[in-house]
Amino acid sequence: MSDCIFCKIIAGEIPSSKVFEDEAVYAFRDINPMAPVHVLVVPKEHIPSADGVNAENSHLVARIFEAIPKIAAAEGLANGYRVITNCGEDGCQSVKHLHFHILGGKKLPDQMA
Ligand code: AMP
Repeated sequence: MSDCIFCKIIAGEIPSSKVFEDEAVYAFRDINPMAPVHVLVVPKEHIPSADGVNAENSHLVARIFEAIPKIAAAEGLANGYRVITNCGEDGCQSVKHLHFHILGGKKLPDQMA
């Protein structure tokens, strides 16, 4: 997607603070961190949101969830962390490229909404 900021980050057209990359997955530090560790994990292939996951692309979500424990370990999150994806208008998704937030490095608030 030519107008997608995360596609541009993956392509190296916009700088990012990369923490992990493989053939399917890219992860980088959130520009506006909400916790001491705040990493975004995205599929390299453009999927608009969790609502766009289907039988053809769900293997990419599995790849993301294989990467998450590796990233968490590298970030020192042995005491736990939170994984969030915001979806659509009511979910307050601001970037329309599927991404999972990894938040950690402190005790997080326990409310979900
Ligand atoms: P969401 O609101 O769930 O769509 O999350 C989008 C996230 O992307 C926000 O936490 C932003 O701070 C983050 N973000 C937006 N632009 C950039 C960027 N260029 N580099 C790193 N993080 C970004």
